[in-house]
Amino acid sequence: MGRKVIYLDYAAATPMDPAVLKAMGGYFTDNFYNPSSGYLAAKAVRRNLNDARASIARGLGSKPGEIIFTAGATEANNLAIKGITRLFPDGEVLISAIEHESVRAPAGLGNCREIPVTKEGLVEHLTLKKMISPATVLVSVGMVNNEIGSCQPLKELSTVIKQERSVRKASGNKLPLYLHTDAAQAGNYFDLNTARLGVDLLSINGGKIYGPKQSGALFIKSRVKLTPLISGGGQEMGMRAGTENVPSIIGLAAALELAQERRNQESKRLSMLRKTFIKELTAQIPAALVNGSTKHTAPHIVSVTIPGTDNERLMMELDEIGIQCAIGSACHADTAAPSHVLSAIGLSSGLAQSTLRFSLGRDTTEKDLSEVVRQLSRITASNR
Ligand code: PLP
Repeated sequence: MGRKVIYLDYAAATPMDPAVLKAMGGYFTDNFYNPSSGYLAAKAVRRNLNDARASIARGLGSKPGEIIFTAGATEANNLAIKGITRLFPDGEVLISAIEHESVRAPAGLGNCREIPVTKEGLVEHLTLKKMISPATVLVSVGMVNNEIGSCQPLKELSTVIKQERSVRKASGNKLPLYLHTDAAQAGNYFDLNTARLGVDLLSINGGKIYGPKQSGALFIKSRVKLTPLISGGGQEMGMRAGTENVPSIIGLAAALELAQERRNQESKRLSMLRKTFIKELTAQIPAALVNGSTKHTAPHIVSVTIPGTDNERLMMELDEIGIQCAIGSACHADTAAPSHVLSAIGLSSGLAQSTLRFSLGRDTTEKDLSEVVRQLSRITASNR
């Protein structure tokens, strides 16, 4: 029998739920048809695709016509940002200082400013209010940060946007002002109802919610104007051309339904595990610091700094004994630069390089986390 592995990198990838895999299966084989073909079997696939869109729309509290399928959250974020900035080239984008690279990179191509965050990794509504200028067309603030788990007050931020919109209208400024959120890390634990959140655009992906990688969607509120990035055959209401990836879309819908059904229960379970883990960890390693917000946090992410340690070495030592975690965000794990998220919350580059991310998920148990604490304190004691 193989060695038991303790997987604590669910923020990077989640295993596919067997029910999701089952739902997708037939669309690779028997139901392989192009949904745009004219015969009955293909039309049935088109209906299934539309049902998947309707199901996702229900999950996001939107109309089906407001959902555009993409290949993951990176593409959804690119569509939101480039789609708007290409239409309003003189407009300005505001992003939080802790956004994922898939927001930072497209926003950074144009006129962009960063909204600073607090030491806990939160965007304050008054800070946002002060930063909005007459040229701001888009504000992009991720719902849950993938490195430190801080969870943004989107409703408050959307109130600021609404107020600014009416001031702008009264002043005769015709530029729109939209709020986008990257919700890639939120689907398992939070309500994604776009009306309640007050957002105009929202990105999701399947690979973080026990669905297929490279599946995703962008919610685009009907009044939002943006230009497509991929043109061709006019699929996805002209917003994203190319034959639809039907199995992936079916998988995304199934995964979102299951994740949203389980979110209250799973959120409570992981919050308890997270608290116990932090308590045991700081008791065993008193120098350890936990990054992010205590109150406004996602239940699945624990970012820990153990001063004096080297995170890469520690990660490798844990890996050798079957504990899988991350040194930051998996997406830029191959760059040597310290994390922009940790710098934005005030960590020195030395402390950032002593920081590990543990991210919890459906198979995580209290016993697993106690074992991680035991091993971490053993390794760090022997390295001292
Ligand atoms: N946004 C956040 C917050 C993420 O954590 C990730 C993946 O790690 C992405 C976007 C990119 O998602 P995808 O890999 O589906 O393109």
